[in-house]
Amino acid sequence: MRSIHDNLQAVRERIRGAAQAAGRDPGSVTLLAVSKTHPAPLVEQALAAGQRAFGENFVQEAMDKMDALRGRGAEWHLIGTLQSNKTRQVAARFDWVQSVESEKIARRLAEQRPGSLPALNVLIQVNVSGEASKSGVTPGEVPGLAKAVGGMARLRLRGLMAIPEPGAEAARYRELGALYGTLQAAFGFDTLSVGMSDDLETAIAEGSTMVRIGTAIFGERRSRGNDVPPAPPSRKMRPAA
Ligand SMILES: *Cc1c(COP(=O)(O)O)cnc(C)c1O
Repeated sequence: MRSIHDNLQAVRERIRGAAQAAGRDPGSVTLLAVSKTHPAPLVEQALAAGQRAFGENFVQEAMDKMDALRGRGAEWHLIGTLQSNKTRQVAARFDWVQSVESEKIARRLAEQRPGSLPALNVLIQVNVSGEASKSGVTPGEVPGLAKAVGGMARLRLRGLMAIPEPGAEAARYRELGALYGTLQAAFGFDTLSVGMSDDLETAIAEGSTMVRIGTAIFGERRSRGNDVPPAPPSRKMRPAA
């Protein structure tokens, strides 16, 4: 089995190749290592191999790893759906939230970000595929939300994030790149987070500046492989209090 160190090298090679093929500087693409479901010792191996930015989907799981790896210089990104009852913990512990999709959530994060920490970096999650089942705002809603979020103290709006459907056509990525391009100057964007283990080449060709890679670095996920946590039981199904 290849080590995390070797896997990271191979992914960095893929990023370099994709950037060069697109005539872009490989240094313009950041690698986010998605460590969800993988335990702290594996994250530690990645840190030892020079990886700094880590993506997590589940708040409690992420905080356990933050505690285990305190002081090691990891930068933590929330990439999963954020429920409003978790914003306080997220505002206090994470460096980035990539999955902002409402003004309400953004406002809570802004109000709850401790003054002792630098502003929280945020991305607006966009749904480019138009799939009702996926999170994110429509492209048409992005400018309004960006205007609102961009004006919030304690938040630093850095750009956009998207999760195209597996096998999505290049046109989807192009649409996203174009949307990012039209807003970039007005809002001071520097980050377009798109591309995973299977589509990083297409994403980089269409302007991605951050790819989120899990499987190709850490291997198959351990337990909860879902991108979205299970829905809470509905009110009706809960036993009467
Ligand atoms: C799990 C996840 C990834 C990583 O996916 P891989 O296919 O393992 O590279 C990237 N982005 C998001 C939002 C995820 O939930």
